[in-house]
Amino acid sequence: MASKDAFRTRRTFAIISHPDAGKTTLTERLLAAAGAIQSAGQVRGKAGTRSTRSDWMEMEQQRGISIASSVMTFDYQGLTFNLLDTPGHSDFSEDTYRVLTAVDAAIMVIDAAKGIESQTLKLFEVCRLRDIPIITFINKIDREGQEPLALFDEIADKLALDLTPALWPIGQGVDYRGYLDLVEKRMVGPTGTPGVEWEEIEELIDHDELMADPVFVNALETLDLARSALPEFDLETFQSGHLTPVLFGSALKGFGVAELLRALGEWAPEPRPQPAEPKPISPDEKKVTGFVFKVQANMDANHRDRIAFVRLSSGTFTRGMKLRNVRSGKDLAISNPMFFFGNNRELAEEAVAGDIVGIPNHGTLSVGDTLTEGAALKVTGIPNFAPEIIRRVRLSEAIKAKQLAKALSDLAEEGVAQVFRRMIGADYLVGVVGPLQLEVLGARVEKEYNVPIGFESVGLEVARWIESDDEAELKRFITAQKANMAEDRDGAPVYMAQNAWWAQRAQQDFPKVRFLTTKERA
Ligand code: GDP
Repeated sequence: MASKDAFRTRRTFAIISHPDAGKTTLTERLLAAAGAIQSAGQVRGKAGTRSTRSDWMEMEQQRGISIASSVMTFDYQGLTFNLLDTPGHSDFSEDTYRVLTAVDAAIMVIDAAKGIESQTLKLFEVCRLRDIPIITFINKIDREGQEPLALFDEIADKLALDLTPALWPIGQGVDYRGYLDLVEKRMVGPTGTPGVEWEEIEELIDHDELMADPVFVNALETLDLARSALPEFDLETFQSGHLTPVLFGSALKGFGVAELLRALGEWAPEPRPQPAEPKPISPDEKKVTGFVFKVQANMDANHRDRIAFVRLSSGTFTRGMKLRNVRSGKDLAISNPMFFFGNNRELAEEAVAGDIVGIPNHGTLSVGDTLTEGAALKVTGIPNFAPEIIRRVRLSEAIKAKQLAKALSDLAEEGVAQVFRRMIGADYLVGVVGPLQLEVLGARVEKEYNVPIGFESVGLEVARWIESDDEAELKRFITAQKANMAEDRDGAPVYMAQNAWWAQRAQQDFPKVRFLTTKERA
């Protein structure tokens, strides 16, 4: 049985980035550095690339689901790291956002040439909702990129976040000479060889042979500028999500990766208390609690099973345990819980707060569900996110209207997509954050409910839940915007606009109305 403090060894984190910034490459490097895989090149989450573990491939093919990289667990230096994948590219979906409700820290990977890109910004904003501490890794330093100081300015500006350097590059691209490790106070050469050490960084100017190199002098000067303008690293400020340490490196070449792992182990927090009603759940509470942050359904019509990914919030879970789904009030014997190690999965005999357990089920578990040993608790902070793609559902066989209603309601509950009813007319609108999510919805409604549907654009691009302390004002807004109003599945009013400009305009015209991009699931 795990000791009552076992959860303190858990580091549960995600990597946030824009497609192509290097997330997959970095994941491989981290796993290799921790000894979890033999060499980089084994982790492949993307279509068209191969997993080296054939058993895994077989399972994926049999089940027609892709869970290859949902969770990767690895041990390193007495700690257990749970890396949760944030699906990107075409499989970007609300899951991508919700994964961030299940982590205690994030690594933000930025391409040194491109700076902050759109998807990084969106994911960062979700991290900010919960003040998740972030370690920044500026990648591809082996290539020509933007100047470090320019990157610092951009990040501070766009994210309104304090930064502090932890690794500073000495040159970039062809001029790359290694880096200064400001934590261990030493230089590391371009091939990873340890170089000069220091007590005070100013000592470096006494090294004539270093100072003879203009690239080195420039690095030292820019670092000096950065340090004079920026705060020093402070663990508490970092852990409260207000300060990000920045490492420069190269996932491809492995520069800075060991230091990133070190930063994660030393600085990333142990499992944090989980927001819940009536009160937050402390990870050291004895009773087991957890919540579902993602449901991976089987796209193969012959296998209706799905896997609910549960993040444990407290207690020591053991296989076979009965847990209550607070939403339905039903008890569930968890006989086949799963863990994920790199590309393998195995039965989870025991798990503690911070761990992720996969629970196969036939639709009894939905996103946002709380599991307890009986306590009437409800985990909060697993919201729906404002959809970025809104479509009208086109039903080709009118006679199946009732089945459609059931299908949409079931799938919305599971968290596959959000469903809205317009206040004028009877149309169903569905909202998603990524195009693949729409495809999945369409395919599942057809396969599982035998209702063929299509989707069509209605010229709406922005959705915001609205609320106000002034009831009359809210009513006035709804009346004025009736043609653009809808209700979500809980009956909450949602304003939909043609584009960001109109949304902005509505906001200016009705200052007492709040326009929200997230809403807690009922
Ligand atoms: P992801 O989409 O964020 O998972 O990005 P990948 O890890 O697939 O990387 C995208 C591309 O950038 C690939 O061609 C990588 O080989 C390349 N790449 C990743 N890291 C580095 C790096 O540190 N330096 C260079 N030069 N290329 C990199």
